[in-house]
Amino acid sequence: PVRVRFAPSPTGPLHIGGVRTALFNYLFAKKKNGTFILRVEDTDQNRYVEGAEQYIIDALNWCGMPFDEGPGKDGGFGPYRQSERKHLYKEYADTLIENGSAYYAFDTPDELNTIRKDYESRGETFIYNWHNRMELQNSLALSKEEVAQRLEKGDHYVIRFRSPQDRVVQLEDMVRGRMEIDSNVLDDKILFKSDGMPTYHLANIVDDHLMEISHVIRGEEWLPSLALHVLLYEAFGWESPEFAHLPLILKPTGKGKLSKRDGDKLGFPVFPLEWKDPASGDTSMGYKEEGYFPEAVVNFLALLGWNPGTEQEIFSMKELIEAFDIARVNRSGARFDPEKIKWFNQHYLQKTDDAVVAEIFGHLLEQKGILSNPQYNEKVAGLLKERAVFVKDLWDLGNYFYTAPETYDAKAVKKSWKENTDQYIKEVAQLLEQTEDFSSAHTEEVVKAWINEQELGFGMVMPPLRLALVGAMQGPHVFDILELLGKEEALKRLERICD
Ligand code: GLU
Repeated sequence: PVRVRFAPSPTGPLHIGGVRTALFNYLFAKKKNGTFILRVEDTDQNRYVEGAEQYIIDALNWCGMPFDEGPGKDGGFGPYRQSERKHLYKEYADTLIENGSAYYAFDTPDELNTIRKDYESRGETFIYNWHNRMELQNSLALSKEEVAQRLEKGDHYVIRFRSPQDRVVQLEDMVRGRMEIDSNVLDDKILFKSDGMPTYHLANIVDDHLMEISHVIRGEEWLPSLALHVLLYEAFGWESPEFAHLPLILKPTGKGKLSKRDGDKLGFPVFPLEWKDPASGDTSMGYKEEGYFPEAVVNFLALLGWNPGTEQEIFSMKELIEAFDIARVNRSGARFDPEKIKWFNQHYLQKTDDAVVAEIFGHLLEQKGILSNPQYNEKVAGLLKERAVFVKDLWDLGNYFYTAPETYDAKAVKKSWKENTDQYIKEVAQLLEQTEDFSSAHTEEVVKAWINEQELGFGMVMPPLRLALVGAMQGPHVFDILELLGKEEALKRLERICD
């Protein structure tokens, strides 16, 4: 059975790249009737950030990709937080020591720093592996008695992986294909520390094995760890899952990895939800709070590094599951285009029912202290949404539906207000006052007939009329505006502009 996991470390809010990793795991799992697991990799206590785990869960739910197994949702493979599994890892580190794949090392960080500097001063790089491990302080170089003594004494130790000498490690990746790594470039990575905590590498492999993960789908930044992971599976005698490393998400310029700073600079979020940093108190923008639909974010992210092989760009989650094929994930980095995600949002806004748009808009109006009525808002949404990218744009596009203009666009006034304009507007006002049927079609008929009768030309009446109602030369069809505003309000505005 297909079992995949999204395994974030709760060291802060989930970056949009993490959301993409989660999405590809989710799509892969759902496509294959598999299980999507959330595993919280919180072994590094120093980097633990309060609230980050909940943020991750909220973000997954907002995007519409809830996990099948994870914290609070045990599927028989829990617990799903590594901090709650910490009793479990030592035994596996011991197994590797017993079978000769790992060893105790007693070098202190200070000692290693000194050695590293020493190497550097000779123009060389220090790699802790077979090249020099016999000169260092570890259970391969020391006598059995010495090792026993030091452990007894409670000396600082770590357990390191014994990376092999002169081997070509074969790697296989669903995205990258076959790769080979010369084992001589690998260092003896730390697997376990004397504080009783495993490192990422050990915990990750042990948990993937115990949780029966079939496919590991993760960001490209983990590709350099793949050789070690493959060697670890081998050392345990376990069958390794299949791997897929997803391409980097690049800055809008296409140069380098997308970072939070790019978003700050260009004014777009890099987080799904708003995040308030508990340490600094700083708030970072989120797609949700900026007014994006989760469907737009998901659709956009799906196409960052994956393509369906057709021209189709608009996909619902269901269609994505249907179409997703990991073989179509690109190797090269995917450029993040903040305009493109807006384009998706605009699309999803058009597809959303006016009543739903009106409901969201109603809340925004409420926050501005404007009481409005749902049917009215629905009509406003219907008239304006085709010009909007976000629901909140309806306010900029149509605030005149809620408050009468207080000023009039000076340029437009200059252009359209002639000597007789006041007179025309007054006459139109009289005409409208006598009009019972205030539907758009009817007022249009009445006003246009009058213009023709007076032989005035539309240009002399229509722009001033719009100006009176809207305050500027923008907006939908004038008579639609008239209908929505209603007679009383419309007449007030016509009167006011002539004052
Ligand atoms: N905890 C790692 C991370 O934060 C997981 C990497 C992996 O999926 O193996 O990305």
